[in-house]
Amino acid sequence: MRRNSINRDELVTNTIREFGGKLVGKNSMKNMVAQTLTLLPKGIRDYIIKNCWFLSSARDAYGYTFSGNDLKNKHLIFLSDELLDLREEQIQYTVLHEIGHVILRHRNAINYSQTKKEIKRQEKEADIFARKYLA
Ligand SMILES: [Zn+2]
Repeated sequence: MRRNSINRDELVTNTIREFGGKLVGKNSMKNMVAQTLTLLPKGIRDYIIKNCWFLSSARDAYGYTFSGNDLKNKHLIFLSDELLDLREEQIQYTVLHEIGHVILRHRNAINYSQTKKEIKRQEKEADIFARKYLA
């Protein structure tokens, strides 16, 4: 793992504080999201902190992002508690993949139907985003 000049633990603590009430879940989930954000450039990190909510979810999928409709440019990212059972790298990959959907401005809203082809393309792009920052 690459080390920045800023102490990583301090950055994680600051990130959780900056998110305020927009991180909803167990402390381990909050830490997991904040740690993943330390992998990203400051511009992306600040955008995500400002515009995203991360919420624990009971859904089957490990991660799920909801944007659009009345949310304007805000995004809800649901993360399964089961995700916490995975290896750190897999957890970070999933969180980065969901952040990728937000940064790449993918549409995923109720009342908006997407073609299978569009969904497939978006999933591929989000995977490329995740791999770029995990390295
Ligand atoms: Zn996806």
